[in-house]
Amino acid sequence: MKNPFENAMVQLDKVASIGKFDTDFITRLRHPDRDIRISIPVTMDDGSLKIFEGYRVEYNNARGPYKGGIRYHPETDVDEVKALAFWMTLKCAVAGIPMGGGKGGITVEPKELSKGELERLSRGWMQKLSDILGPHKDVPAPDVNTTPEIMDWMADEFEKITGDKTGAVITGKSIDRRLPAGRQGSEGRGTATGQGGYFVFKALREKLNLPEKCTVAIQGFGNAGSNVAKIFAENGHTVIAISDSKGAVVNEAGLDINALLAHKKSTGGLVGLPGAKYITNEELLELPCDLLIPAAFENQITAENADKIKAKAILELANGPTTPEADEILFKKNIPVIPDILANSGGVTVSYFEWEQNLKGEHWSESEVFEKLQKILEDSAKKILEKSGKLNTNLRMGAFILALERIEEKM
Ligand code: NAD
Repeated sequence: MKNPFENAMVQLDKVASIGKFDTDFITRLRHPDRDIRISIPVTMDDGSLKIFEGYRVEYNNARGPYKGGIRYHPETDVDEVKALAFWMTLKCAVAGIPMGGGKGGITVEPKELSKGELERLSRGWMQKLSDILGPHKDVPAPDVNTTPEIMDWMADEFEKITGDKTGAVITGKSIDRRLPAGRQGSEGRGTATGQGGYFVFKALREKLNLPEKCTVAIQGFGNAGSNVAKIFAENGHTVIAISDSKGAVVNEAGLDINALLAHKKSTGGLVGLPGAKYITNEELLELPCDLLIPAAFENQITAENADKIKAKAILELANGPTTPEADEILFKKNIPVIPDILANSGGVTVSYFEWEQNLKGEHWSESEVFEKLQKILEDSAKKILEKSGKLNTNLRMGAFILALERIEEKM
């Protein structure tokens, strides 16, 4: 599989050839400010000692503290984290929030750890990095396989080490009523990525000539995928297919998302859902539908399968699901791709709201959070559409140009 950081740099080269940017600025953006690797010793339940490799990449803080999630995955490595940190830098700029870009990770299969081992590993990550993190320095959040509970352990560890009681060092925390209101997680953070994706879709639907009620296929059924599935279904769209790491289920008449969630909870997977057909993840990507939503991993739509995509548009909830070669093919086929740095920016925007609430000691209602979120996303979507139209380029390049202009101004 292609190195995601190489893909990110190809995107940067392309935008540099379209926009009018200072070459030194582009050169600086080819390198993260810091790229930190740590060893995390964990005492396992059987008494043995295991060392895990962890990362934090601080890419750029021209616009504010580094911001970005922590990924737990067996294939996570420093190049993946670097690419994700680069995209975070642009994403925060697209959202117009005063944050820079960072990302973290641990190479681990969390499903193989007990809860106690997972807690010791998460606290260990924080112990090794507490000196570079902080509400005004670097503020992590959840990503693949990391949960509000893990964020709570990390926030608690940071408080023990530094005495900081704001909780603003990390976002995506749970809403723990035992804590003072301002230190809790934000209302709406759990569903923010899916909700934000839906607001972006709504803002662009007509311009992209999509029907009022769409058929939707979704790759991934975790935080991003399951929430976006629920939100589309609740708003009258027909979710025809969903996948997880083991495969996909299809029902052209529409899947019942709550039944699917219950089935996944009781059986651990999607296969065997009554009334649904079972297909592979690759087949899901090639289904005829109005909207395809990749919500799992990088490098899913590539030069090999882009030509076979039959969706009318793509909404990228995952980070980096489309390679630069696939982007070109889709542009020629007239299939618009709503890029990750816009489509999934609802997560980081509500993370920013959480940080702000923690620092001010406030707790906002979910409707207040989503109202602010919708305004930001509609505004960014409009600006990106204008930019890409003016330059006759795709939405990704429009988004990159908007982000780079905002970062260059600060640098
Ligand atoms: P998650 O761990 O909650 O879920 C990941 C899902 O992907 C799981 O359902 C898993 O079964 C599935 N999956 C794994 N391998 C797969 C494969 N080969 N094919 C299909 N499905 C597969 O993670 P998440 O938080 O939902 O993140 C998913 C994507 O969204 C990532 O790219 C992440 O960076 C991005 N994202 C997440 C957030 C957020 O707030 N959670 C914000 C922005 C972007």
